[in-house]
Amino acid sequence: AGELYVVATPIGNLGDMVPRAVDVLHAVDLIAAEDTRHSGRLLKHLGIDTPMVPYHDHGEEHQSQRILQTLGQGQTVALISDAGTPLISDPGYRLVRKARQLGVKVVPIPGPCALIAALCASGLPSDRFSFEGFLPAKSGARQKKLSALADDPRTLVFYESPHRVLDTLSDMVAELGADREAVLARELTKAFETFLAGSLEELCQMVEEDANQQRGEIVILVSGAPEVAVSESEQRRVLALLMEELP
Ligand code: SAM
Repeated sequence: AGELYVVATPIGNLGDMVPRAVDVLHAVDLIAAEDTRHSGRLLKHLGIDTPMVPYHDHGEEHQSQRILQTLGQGQTVALISDAGTPLISDPGYRLVRKARQLGVKVVPIPGPCALIAALCASGLPSDRFSFEGFLPAKSGARQKKLSALADDPRTLVFYESPHRVLDTLSDMVAELGADREAVLARELTKAFETFLAGSLEELCQMVEEDANQQRGEIVILVSGAPEVAVSESEQRRVLALLMEELP
């Protein structure tokens, strides 16, 4: 069987295109793209004329069948999305899974990814984090999801649309607490790249007062729930209980 390359592309700055990704896009027999028109512009800029087929969530079954057939004939295919790393809040998971099940070799070509770019420059703890992708668009479902995350000690990373950023930040204040440290990373790698840092309440205010902060592409990072410190009296109480049980 052929090989499936999962290829990252820039999240704004074309200078972030990885040389190995360019080589692979040149060399493969077929490129499967989330939006062939959008990716067509990138390929043209790179001087690549490899044939393209669409691969997105609608019609996934049909499209993946065609791609898997190509792979089955021993040909090579590269999967790309509109921006960043495929499968990260982007299509690709089902295709990669089916390809592996058929014994196709799957090769990652790592590169830009908004969540990693935001996290590594945010100043929030990066040793453990939970990527939550997009929260539900409806407020009720969003609050429920946030409330389920309220005790998570890991840094939380979300993708958000500019139209919803203010509503989401105010739901975060309500569900995670006004004092929680957070960072809003906007327009990463582009001309207006901005990092806003503060408590959730402060971020909410900054975004409300400046409509520019409600534009472009956004990652929201929230520090994890503070580890609950056990008081000395509680420690003594537990110790006393244990002592009673000891022989
Ligand atoms: N696969 C992409 C990746 O690797 O980051 C993510 C695709 S997802 C459909 C698009 C979302 O990613 C945007 O709504 C935004 O939350 C985030 N994003 C993508 N590019 C970004 C950028 N340059 N700056 C900030 N956030 C970005």
